[in-house]
Amino acid sequence: MIDSVRGRLTLWYVSALALMLVAFSVILYVLAARALYQRLDDGLRSLIEVSTKSLNNDAEEGQSYQNAAQSTAAELSHFPQVLLIFDVGGKLLTDNHPEDDFPEKLPELSSIPDNEPRFYTIAEEDDDGDRHRIAVRSVSISPANRRYIILASQPLDVVEDELEALRQPLYFAGPVALLLAGLGGWILARKSLKPVVAMAESARRIGAGNLGQQLPVANPRDELGQLAVTFNELLARLHAAFAQQRQFMADASHELRTPLSVLRTTAGVTLKKQHRSEDEYREAIHMMDEQTQRLTRIVKDLFTLARADAARYPLHKKAFYLNDLLEEVARAGSLLAAEKNIALEVANLPEANCQGDEDLLRRMILNLVDNAIKYTPPRGVVRLRLARESRHFVITVSDTGSGIPVDSHTHIFERFYRVDKARSRSEDAGGGGAGLGLSIATWIAEAHGGSLKLTHSGPDGTTFVAKLPATS
Ligand code: ADP
Repeated sequence: MIDSVRGRLTLWYVSALALMLVAFSVILYVLAARALYQRLDDGLRSLIEVSTKSLNNDAEEGQSYQNAAQSTAAELSHFPQVLLIFDVGGKLLTDNHPEDDFPEKLPELSSIPDNEPRFYTIAEEDDDGDRHRIAVRSVSISPANRRYIILASQPLDVVEDELEALRQPLYFAGPVALLLAGLGGWILARKSLKPVVAMAESARRIGAGNLGQQLPVANPRDELGQLAVTFNELLARLHAAFAQQRQFMADASHELRTPLSVLRTTAGVTLKKQHRSEDEYREAIHMMDEQTQRLTRIVKDLFTLARADAARYPLHKKAFYLNDLLEEVARAGSLLAAEKNIALEVANLPEANCQGDEDLLRRMILNLVDNAIKYTPPRGVVRLRLARESRHFVITVSDTGSGIPVDSHTHIFERFYRVDKARSRSEDAGGGGAGLGLSIATWIAEAHGGSLKLTHSGPDGTTFVAKLPATS
């Protein structure tokens, strides 16, 4: 096996060319040979025709049977053609046979046709074995009612010499052409594969640290250029994914650092003083409990997203009533809402038999309701609605909060994005979000083949709409 593409390309190229050259040479040679033999046969055929006419004339002029044959043969037999005339019994009437070793024997008399000449080839019996082409025919000369057998022959050496002259350059030119083509192919393959070598060298130097580098693109329009462009696009995507991953790690550790440092400070401050009242201890433990809850929630959210990214979060789908789930979430949320003096309204929910992972969908709706309560001031209203469109269940969560600034509309679904970082983190110590709630809610909706969108946000409030397919 040849291990370089260049070598294989050249080999294929030379093999294909060799095949074509051989086929071309064979066809050329066969056609030339056929034409030459045909020309020779035509010459012999016309010699027999002319001889017949001459015998005819001689008979009309009253020449004897033998004399007519003699004079015709002497007149028409010119080198390299030889004309022999026999009587019907196969006896030679002429004495002009050229060489001693020329076989002047006639074939079987009964096999000699009288309409068309019969052609055949014979070889001399000596060492050279020179070959002769023979045409033989029996003719009847009507004026004197005579019959002759006319044999015209010609040595094949002229034709064979011509064919030999054709064969020589083919033998020579073929290998030379192949050699030149192989050399040219090798140089061409080297030239066209040069960008690949350059690409491989550049690719070898790219690692996790310099994913921003790109491969050289020699010509963006050709196939190799397109390969380099595609590879560069892949590198760009990897670079972006790596950057996102790094950002995710940085954000995650930042989010974890805050509750951890609150925990440490609380523990440190509490322990620093020897004797404290029970209330002081209670307050400290309460604060630590809240921070632990917050930590747990962040870690749980991070774990969910990590598994979702790796497409390893199993969806436990089953049939359930979405309206019941909404009512359950509303009950849970109403306690929180009541604490903040917010009304949580649930419109008449239509029956909605849904197929999905109930726990995940609960988490999605809870996130939306939680946010609505969290970002709505006291005396506000949070509304939860459910409707059925032709192919979807539409869950709407709206509030009368102060809304989300327009320039944050596209960012709120990003991980760790919070409009007002300080506020949402300190929002009732343990309840502040890490900016992961909407990312998770979006993933849950999409994992069910649905979507989550912010449809309205302004000073009068915010509305989120989640659509879930109502397939079965
Ligand atoms: P968090 O856990 O901080 O709430 P989310 O991903 O759930 O994170 O939300 C991202 C940000 O979107 C929030 O920090 C908040 O600023 C904004 N947001 C989400 N829902 C609402 C809402 N109903 N009203 C106003 N702002 C909202």
